[in-house]
Amino acid sequence: MILLTHERRKTILLSTAAAVFLCFSIVWIVACASSKPSADADLVSIQQVNPHIHIDIRYATLNNFANQKLYPSGKICFVRRSVAVKLDKVQQELETQGLGLKIYDGYRPLSVQKKMWAIMPDENYVANPTKGSRHNRGAAVDITLVRADGTELLMPTAFDDFTEKAWRTATKDISDEALRNRTLLQSVMEKHGFSGLKTEWWHFDEIGWERYEILDIDSVFKD
Ligand SMILES: [Zn+2]
Repeated sequence: MILLTHERRKTILLSTAAAVFLCFSIVWIVACASSKPSADADLVSIQQVNPHIHIDIRYATLNNFANQKLYPSGKICFVRRSVAVKLDKVQQELETQGLGLKIYDGYRPLSVQKKMWAIMPDENYVANPTKGSRHNRGAAVDITLVRADGTELLMPTAFDDFTEKAWRTATKDISDEALRNRTLLQSVMEKHGFSGLKTEWWHFDEIGWERYEILDIDSVFKD
């Protein structure tokens, strides 16, 4: 039997405690790293990712269904990084045809969603803020097609038209030209990872939007 001195036992105990502490620290660091949002969860400015994409943020103007300015500024449009990367690919493909994208809305703070719901409490057109909109997650965009000079292509209706003519499947009283343009927008968006909404030809969600949480960040309006 080996007899350990008091000092030797103390050293062994301290070494064991240090090893256990180190193991727990490593486990904790790994756990934290895996729960941290990945880089593509960031909100980024669309203009920074592709400055060729036109911006016309309607809720920063009086030209919207509410006839009032719901955003204090419309100079910057934010979306999740993964959305911006996909929109960049859509824009590049459209440019080969002399066309491009124009964005009416991207990330929308939850505070604005509450204002919209107060004006239009109809879930066919405005998401209930208790559930949150895909725009509140930075994972949806309202868009149309434009020529290289920024003029809009003909579509079945104007943006935020709350009639059945704006439905993605509508054909009644819609010209062939408008139907062709709507089909082009839909096909190029679907090709690059978006899906449309039944009641609005201009609205697209990133496929996988569920992985993003609802955000309420008013600072996106700072120019
Ligand atoms: Zn929308």
